[in-house]
Amino acid sequence: MATPVKVPTFRTYNAPLYVLVGLDPITGQIGVSPDPFWIHPDEEVVWICTLPHAQHGKDCFTIEFKDKSPFKNHVFHGHGSRSEKPIVSPDINKVYAYSVTWPSQVTLDPQGGVKP
Ligand SMILES: [Zn+2]
Repeated sequence: MATPVKVPTFRTYNAPLYVLVGLDPITGQIGVSPDPFWIHPDEEVVWICTLPHAQHGKDCFTIEFKDKSPFKNHVFHGHGSRSEKPIVSPDINKVYAYSVTWPSQVTLDPQGGVKP
């Protein structure tokens, strides 16, 4: 009689979700990827700046959830900012709009949400 195989449980879903902010290499347009982002309740977002800092000045971007934030904080500054885990309940019908602003006044308006 064979011994049952013990299958390890991989918890890859609680790794941070990296959201890239910068120039699309194909179109040359400024963009955010993925947009919208979707994370699970035990995940967090890390925003990554892919623009050369000479291009947007010394200071990096500011992320701001102007309406309602799915996170404890509403504002995140610069490359490598971590959202920490969301404080809202998962809802695939709810997206949270945020803005990305550089000191050069380049602004984006992407979205994100928390899925079950
Ligand atoms: Zn930057």
